[in-house]
Amino acid sequence: PAEVAREALDRLVVDVPDFPEPGVVFKDITPVLADHDGFTAVVAALAEHGRLDDGQVVDKVVGMEARGFILAAPVALALGAGFVPVRKAGKLPRETHAVSYSLEYGDATLELHRDAISPGDRVLLVDDVLATGGTARATRELVEACGGIVTGLAVLMELSFLPGRETVGDLPVSSLVTL
Ligand code: AMP
Repeated sequence: PAEVAREALDRLVVDVPDFPEPGVVFKDITPVLADHDGFTAVVAALAEHGRLDDGQVVDKVVGMEARGFILAAPVALALGAGFVPVRKAGKLPRETHAVSYSLEYGDATLELHRDAISPGDRVLLVDDVLATGGTARATRELVEACGGIVTGLAVLMELSFLPGRETVGDLPVSSLVTL
C-alpha cells in the first residue's frame, strides 16, 4: 500500500512556488484527494501507522486543522478508531486545552477539547506535511495535557531541509515521502 501511495503522491502533488509567501514551495495535495485511487491509497498507507505492536489499533486519530482533518477522519474510520480535531484558537465551542507556539512571524495557538481524549488513550497524529514540526509538537502537548499517549505522527510528506524531526524529539515520525 505504501508503494501505491508514494506513486500517487509523486504523480499528483503539485508544487506551487512562492505560496503563501515568497520562498515557500507549497505542496498542494488537493489533486490527490480528487483522485479516488490516490486518496484511497494514501489513507490506507497512513492507517498502517495506527496499528500497534500489541495487535490493537489506536483509540483516537487526531487531525490538525485544516488538511489534517481531511486525512485523519478517513484514517480513523479505516482503523475503527475515533477522530478528534485540533483547531486554531477560538473555534472549538467547549472547554479546551490550549498551546501557543511561535511561527516564523508571530505565533499561533492550537486547541483541543478537554474531554476528547481520555487518560490512557493511545493516539495517532495525522497531517499532510511535516515542516518545522511546531504544529506536531504543540498537538502532542495538547494530547498529553488530556492524559493521552501519542504513539506517532503519520504524514504524507516530510521536508527534510527543515528541523521537523528535531522539533518533535522522541515522537516516532512516519512519512511516505521525504523531500
Ligand atoms: P510545521 O508546524 O512547520 O511543521 O507546519 C506544519 C503545517 O503547515 C502543516 O499543517 C502543513 O499543512 C503546513 N505546511 C507547512 N509547510 C508546507 C508546505 N511547504 N506545503 C504545504 N503545507 C505546508
